Amino acid sequence: MKATDRPTPGEPGGAATAGRRAFLGAGVAALATTLIGRKLRAAEQVAAAPESTAAAPGPQVTIENFSAAGKSEGTVRVAKVVKSDAEWRAQLSPLAFRVARQAGTEGAFSGEYDHNQADGLYRCICCDTALYDSKTKFDSGTGWPSFWRPISAVNVVKSPDSSLGMQRDAISCRLCDAHLGHVFDDGPRPTGLRYCMNSVSLRFVKRA
Ligand SMILES: [Zn+2]
Repeated sequence: MKATDRPTPGEPGGAATAGRRAFLGAGVAALATTLIGRKLRAAEQVAAAPESTAAAPGPQVTIENFSAAGKSEGTVRVAKVVKSDAEWRAQLSPLAFRVARQAGTEGAFSGEYDHNQADGLYRCICCDTALYDSKTKFDSGTGWPSFWRPISAVNVVKSPDSSLGMQRDAISCRLCDAHLGHVFDDGPRPTGLRYCMNSVSLRFVKRA
């Protein structure tokens, strides 16, 4: 469309020329404003795209990473590990799936870490997050591996559990929600806590 060819109705003589110029000027200004507006909106969309893509996988959590020697490598903000039951079944043993993904409990004295005295870290069977250091393990006599504190307060989540007619505090993995066990207040010093864990929810790795 050529704006200059457009007639200006109802304006005679010299006034028509001035009117046409004014019309043209206003038209160009309006057009420019529209184009700039479109470009700005397009730029905003381009800039916003990576953020919305990054946020898509789901909620983020803060966890503390630990080296193979058990030294803290600081906290990081990462997307939660979310998998379907089919994916967890493919990754885990039937018992580990039952305990870690369905809040089950392994039989007392049946787990492989109940009497494990080796020096190292216990990591999540599902996502490998560091959960306990062997330096805080003690013999509770219960038949389950027991610790008086997690390796990092941010790596585990405590939540009320009223199943089986008992009021308990369940402990799960912050990163993947794996059920790990329960915590009780009859543990040894210095915390007085007993983190009663299922061996099958854990993977022991010797200290490097
Ligand atoms: Zn986990």
